[in-house]
Amino acid sequence: MSTIEPARVYFVPARGADGPDILAAKAGRALAALDFLDVLEAGDFCALKIHFGERNNKGYIKPEWLRTIAAAVRAKTPRAFLTDSNTLYVGPRSNSVEHIRLAWSHGFRPDVLDIPVIIADGLIGRDVQGAAGISGRIGEAKIASAILSADALLALTHVTGHVQTGMGAAIKNLGMGCASRAGKLEQHSVAHPRVQTKSCRDCGVCFDHCPAGAIVQAEGHVTIDDVRCIGCGECLVVCKFGAIRVRWDEDYRRIQEKIAEYALLVRRGFKRKTAFLNFLIGVTKDCDCMAKGEASIVEDIGILASSDPVAVDQASADLILKTAGGRDVFRRGYDIDWSIQLEHGQKIGLGLRRYALTTFNE
Ligand code: SF4
Ligand code: SF4
Repeated sequence: MSTIEPARVYFVPARGADGPDILAAKAGRALAALDFLDVLEAGDFCALKIHFGERNNKGYIKPEWLRTIAAAVRAKTPRAFLTDSNTLYVGPRSNSVEHIRLAWSHGFRPDVLDIPVIIADGLIGRDVQGAAGISGRIGEAKIASAILSADALLALTHVTGHVQTGMGAAIKNLGMGCASRAGKLEQHSVAHPRVQTKSCRDCGVCFDHCPAGAIVQAEGHVTIDDVRCIGCGECLVVCKFGAIRVRWDEDYRRIQEKIAEYALLVRRGFKRKTAFLNFLIGVTKDCDCMAKGEASIVEDIGILASSDPVAVDQASADLILKTAGGRDVFRRGYDIDWSIQLEHGQKIGLGLRRYALTTFNE
């Protein structure tokens, strides 16, 4: 019989209809159940890792819900910052300038939270730190620099379904969300980018940016030499014609295992100064990268907090399925076994699937 204590997870029931003030108080209550604020020291750089939501997305965590948390963190350290990393795909979150503008437009402004926004992998995704891998699928993780430079990490996660992983929650926010563009490419793809020849204007810009000399001239267009390519992802953003494409070819098992391994390597840099808050409000079939609003796949449930990312995700999934009357609403969206990230996360020491849930009254 196992003598390992189950991980502690705290649950505050909540729904979007509570309104921003009550939701802010409930989120603050969930965080206060952990010792995160106690271990935070004056002068700590504290990364509040969040997804600001794609343009026209409606499901992202609203900044007003974070007012109590922001005030509590600010009271401990003036060096807190809201952060995310640039996207792999080309769009309004693939460079820091547009990314910050989008965050502002969604209300993540100093007048709302009094916390600055810093995009963790720099202007165009080149600010990267390596982290030695474990004996799994990842050799060296390529993590957004500002994340690993911080002293503390508070992951604020909107739990949703996901087209490639079935479910996206704290493990994904940590593993994929804190990875640099090269790290995201490594997780998403077994191969390197490819050139869509009919879109290539043969302008030559990608030649100058490729650090590996992997762009090769062909007849009226360029191609990528897979042997030389190191998978940095630079060419994806410098091509103004969208001619360089990600091969979204990783299978659902391997991508989840890679995400969990990245999550472990991110978390390893923080010792005790990590906390994970999962928001089960407006749970949608797709993640907040969708540039549209989507209907909820289950009624609103609440906010969960834990210092264990595997446990908080397991508890989130359990509550979502229970609220849906036992139906696996994630698999109704995409028929993917989403539990692989939990299973692999536990196997590599990221956290525990076994948890003890403490529920606070509304
Ligand atoms: S930057 Fe784009 S359009 Fe220009 S050569 Fe490279 S792939 Fe072709
Ligand atoms: S991913 Fe990096 S190494 Fe590979 S072709 Fe693009 S710029 Fe060159």
